[in-house]
Amino acid sequence: LVSRELQAHDTVVDVGGVSIGGDRLAVIAGPCAVESPDQLHETAAAVKAAGATLLRAGAYKPRTSPYGFAGHGIEGLKVLREVGDDLGLPIVTEVMDTADVAHVAEAADCLQIGARNMQNYALLRAVGAAGRPVLLKRGLSATIQEWLLAAEYLMAAGNPNVILCERGIRTFEPATRNTLDLNAVPYVKGKTHLPIVVDPSHGTGARDLVPAMSLAAVAAGADGLMIEVHRDPAKAWSDGAQSLYPAQFEQLMGSIGAVAAAV
Ligand code: PEP
Ligand code: MN
Repeated sequence: LVSRELQAHDTVVDVGGVSIGGDRLAVIAGPCAVESPDQLHETAAAVKAAGATLLRAGAYKPRTSPYGFAGHGIEGLKVLREVGDDLGLPIVTEVMDTADVAHVAEAADCLQIGARNMQNYALLRAVGAAGRPVLLKRGLSATIQEWLLAAEYLMAAGNPNVILCERGIRTFEPATRNTLDLNAVPYVKGKTHLPIVVDPSHGTGARDLVPAMSLAAVAAGADGLMIEVHRDPAKAWSDGAQSLYPAQFEQLMGSIGAVAAAV
């Protein structure tokens, strides 16, 4: 179902009225996690003013340490919905557990499957049947073939609205958190009709590398970007080192148009 051979034209996914795929670049931005109503609202208002068209933030966070902040859960979803409605931004947020799919699908416009769950087949089946668009992140060490087969699970469960997200993979290189595989963008576009967005925040782990890799992703043909922004990155509860300052995000948005127009 994901194959370009079965469908020649590009799939355009509608996320709460915003298209992902097709001619316009979609920019999904926001903090790693919902921390407080105030933190989310201030950050969301800043990314919207800079031109982002979708809001991201996690209410359920996959943390490497069991002692890390794991998200506010249902309370976080409520805050997300309120802020999204207030600012007119559709919401993308992660779901980690089959038991949470129904209420995350009720609150969010698009369900994110995180890198760590790309091969959680029970979750893929449940999310595939939930009736919401899905953003499927590439697994930490997943091949492109495995990633496309995970997308196939979602489509086979009845969901045609799948967005792929390249977020970096594990390599032998420790200088950056991950190695952003921009080869994947044009390669995937040859193999599948599904849209692909790039997450240079998790892909690099370092805010100063995010602008260059964002522009490179657009030049490579990405349909969109997912970028972490925090009103005060030094105080972020998760992923502060890779979160852009609002002013940095605004500057990046100002330079993206020229690259997007050139591809
Ligand atoms: C995230 O988007 O905050 C996240 C946890 O991403 P990933 O699953 O790519 O690590
Ligand atoms: Mn994060």
